Amino acid sequence: MRFRSIARNRGDDRQPALLVSRTFWVSDVPRLIPLCRLLGHKPVVDGTDTPRRWVVCDRCGIRANPQGNLDPEQWNIGQPYTEPLTPTQPVSSTVRDQLARRGLKPSHSGNPGPIPTQPVGTVGGEIHIGKSKWRTVGIDFKVGNCGSEQVMAASLRLGPLGSLYLHTEDHGRRIQRRLNPTGYQSRETGLSYYHGRLSWKVWAKRDERRKADPKWMQGSIPIDPRDLLLGPAKNRQVSETEKVPAVVRMPEGDTYDVTVHLEKWETRRTRGRARVYWLAQWDCAKGIPVRNHDWKGDETFSCSWQIQGVTPDTPRWPLILAAKAAEQCSRDRARYDYTAPEAAGKASP
Ligand SMILES: [Zn+2]
Repeated sequence: MRFRSIARNRGDDRQPALLVSRTFWVSDVPRLIPLCRLLGHKPVVDGTDTPRRWVVCDRCGIRANPQGNLDPEQWNIGQPYTEPLTPTQPVSSTVRDQLARRGLKPSHSGNPGPIPTQPVGTVGGEIHIGKSKWRTVGIDFKVGNCGSEQVMAASLRLGPLGSLYLHTEDHGRRIQRRLNPTGYQSRETGLSYYHGRLSWKVWAKRDERRKADPKWMQGSIPIDPRDLLLGPAKNRQVSETEKVPAVVRMPEGDTYDVTVHLEKWETRRTRGRARVYWLAQWDCAKGIPVRNHDWKGDETFSCSWQIQGVTPDTPRWPLILAAKAAEQCSRDRARYDYTAPEAAGKASP
């Protein structure tokens, strides 16, 4: 068995570094197949809704190698495969040249090879411990489909404390073949809590959600007692100021014409008092460059944020917003290691 891991998130000014943040893999983990090790594999034909057939062990779910490509007219899913497990030898280059001269291609080898007797697989995952920005608390597990590289997966999220994610590559094929044999939809089961809502999934398809799906399969309910007593909270814009021209002066000396405005908003529950808050926004038609990039957009054109202690009654509020815009863009320039075009020109003549 081999263990490997790499460090993730090193932190920046938006997200502080976590205590632990790593992706890891344990490879060459022997697969748990005691019966097959004792009795040998039990080859059967397997396949999907699409006309493809291959050979797999009915007991442990391990595929033949190569898995084979059988004729669906002759082989039914679940039928025991009694032919010898010997792959067709690849056509030699001499024969391939001879066929090519006559304008022919060698027919594709379709016979399955042997099923590995000492199979191994990988178990991997991600662990994050420390002040995470994720606020979800929950647990879930996934059973993959016949095409999944990650056959089984599970995750535990503990909100700001951290999270753990585990997956297997090939381990668990037996369970997948018993529970989710056909189709290409993985199935998820789990429970989570986010922003006052409890959500559940019970054997729900991972990448598809239909109106006809029963309610027990997937849904969410509010469980915040304030939602139940006072009704759901709703946000509404009350008023906004005119767009006022202002100038953003960057520490590098470049300046940009922008417009700034303030919006008054309130959040209110059906029964209860309104809470008023203000949003500030700046817009720059030309854009303020924050990074040097050939093909990704390198300008910021606008930004909106919740502002405290500033209203249209605050003297010189447009100047305060323009100064904040300069600070935001300056932070972005630092993050992207921005060099002003003039300075870059001097650095590499
Ligand atoms: Zn087996």
